[in-house]
Amino acid sequence: MNLMYKSTRNASRKVTASEAILKGLAEDGGLFVPEVIPQLDVSMEELKEKSYQETAYIVMKQFFTDFTEEELKNCIKLAYDKKFDTEEIAPIVKVGKTYHLELFHGATIAFKDMALSILPHLLTTSAKKHHVTKDIVILTATSGDTGKAAMAGFQDVKGTRIIVFYPKGGVSPVQERQMVTQKGKNTAVVALHGNFDDAQSGVKTLFEDLELQEKLAQSGYQFSSANSINIGRLIPQVVYYVYAYAKLLNQQQIVNGEKINVTVPTGNFGNILAAYYAKEMGVPIHKLICASNDNKVLYDFFETGIYDKNRAFILTTSPSMDILVSSNLERLIHIISGQDAIKTRELMGQLKQRGVYEITSAMKEKLSDFIGGYATEKDTAKMIYDTYREVGYVMDPHTAVAAYVCQKCQEEQENSTKDLVVSTASPYKFLKSVMTAIDEKYCQMDEFDLIEELNKISDIPIPKAISEIKDAKVLHKRECDVKDMKKTVLNILEIEG
Ligand SMILES: *Cc1c(COP(=O)(O)O)cnc(C)c1O
Repeated sequence: MNLMYKSTRNASRKVTASEAILKGLAEDGGLFVPEVIPQLDVSMEELKEKSYQETAYIVMKQFFTDFTEEELKNCIKLAYDKKFDTEEIAPIVKVGKTYHLELFHGATIAFKDMALSILPHLLTTSAKKHHVTKDIVILTATSGDTGKAAMAGFQDVKGTRIIVFYPKGGVSPVQERQMVTQKGKNTAVVALHGNFDDAQSGVKTLFEDLELQEKLAQSGYQFSSANSINIGRLIPQVVYYVYAYAKLLNQQQIVNGEKINVTVPTGNFGNILAAYYAKEMGVPIHKLICASNDNKVLYDFFETGIYDKNRAFILTTSPSMDILVSSNLERLIHIISGQDAIKTRELMGQLKQRGVYEITSAMKEKLSDFIGGYATEKDTAKMIYDTYREVGYVMDPHTAVAAYVCQKCQEEQENSTKDLVVSTASPYKFLKSVMTAIDEKYCQMDEFDLIEELNKISDIPIPKAISEIKDAKVLHKRECDVKDMKKTVLNILEIEG
C-alpha cells in the first residue's frame, strides 16, 4: 500500500509521493504532507553500521513508496557521490562538549546540497513515471544558498529549466558570485529589487497564476519547485538526523535510546521540521531547539503562540535565515491542529491578509517538543570568536547562531542531555563576517582576499566551490522589480507576454 500525501489546506484529494514531488505546491496553495509519518523499520543497532547512502534508502523508501527499489537507489547513488568532499557525506565533529553535524561538504558548501543533490533525480524519475512530456521549469526564490545548490543540481539536466530569484543586496558576496557565474544552458539567475520574502511570495504567486500556467503549457512547459515546500526536499533532510544518531551510537558517544537535543539554525523551517519528522519516526530526540537570528519571528511564536510578521526585516550576517515568513511552519501547524485542513487554511489566510495569526491553546500545548531561542548579531560574532579562541574551530554565522542558542539552553537547563548542533554552511561562504568576528583587522580587506587568511588561521582546506568562482566569468546580469517577475519569467522562456 502506498503512503499517500495530501495538501495542508485540503484533506480530500490524495496524491502519491511522485505526484507531490512533481507538483511541488498543491493547487490550493497548501503544502503536501504524508498522511502519517512512518516508523523506522530498521533498529538503531543495525543502522549504526550503515553508510549514508544505505541510511538514505532505509529512510526514503518509507516515504516514497511509489518509487521502485531500483529507482530510489539510483537517485541516491547519483546524488551522494564524489560531489561531497568526504566519504561520510555528513561528518560529526566534537566542538567543546557539543557535537556538530557538518552538512556543508557538498558542491556549494551549504546544507542545501543535502537535499538538492537528490531532488533533480527524484523529479526527473517522477516525470518519467507519469509520462510527462513537457519540460519542467524550476522556479526558485533563494535567500542565498538554495539558488546555487538548485542550479548545481539541475545544471544541464535534460528536460528541465531553472530560474532563480535572489534578493539583490541580501546575500553574501560569495553567494552572489556563486550564482551569477553559474554555468549550464538551462539556468537563469535574476537579482530582485526586494528582500527574500518578496522573492518567495512572488514565486508563490506565479505558481498560483493559472493564466501563466496555461501560457507555459502551450509552449511545452510546466512549473515545479525546488524550494523546501517540495516534499522531495524535506524527506532527504530526515536522513541525516537518523544517520547522525546512528553514528553517535557507533562512536559510543551515546548509549542506545539515550535522548539528545538538536539545535537547528532556522529560516524557512525546513531543516528543523525534518528533525521533527526524524523524532516522529523514532529517533530518540529530546528537544528540538529552533535558533533564529534578529529576525526572531519563530522565537516569539514559540513563546506566545502568535505568529506576527509585521515587523522590520533585518539584514544580518546570517542572510539565509533572514526570513519573516517561514513557509514550512505550515506543515507543523497542520500537525498540531490535528491535521485540520480547514483550520490550517484559515490561519494561513490570516497570515496572508493581516500578517499575523494566533494558534489555539490546545495547539500550543502540542509544541512542547520545541524550544525557541535567538542570537543577536553581537552574540553571533562573540560565539565565532570564543569558539575559535577556545578550541580553534571556525564556524559560519548561521552555525554560530545555533551554537549560541544551544549554549544558552545548556546553561538554563543544567541537565546532562547531549547536544547536536546542525552546522549548515562552511565559513568560506561568509568570509567577511567570520573573519571580522575573529579579528577586527580583517574588516578592511576585500572579501575574496580573505580566502587565504581563513585558510591560514583554520587549516581548513579551501573548498573547490571557492577556488572555482574566484576568477569565474559573470554569466548572469538580469535584474527586475517585484512587479515584473512574471514578465521576466516569460522573457527567459522566450514566451510572448
Ligand atoms: C537555508 C539555510 C538555513 C535555514 O534552513 P531552513 O531549512 O530554511 O530553516 C540555515 N543556514 C544556512 C546556511 C542555510 O543555507
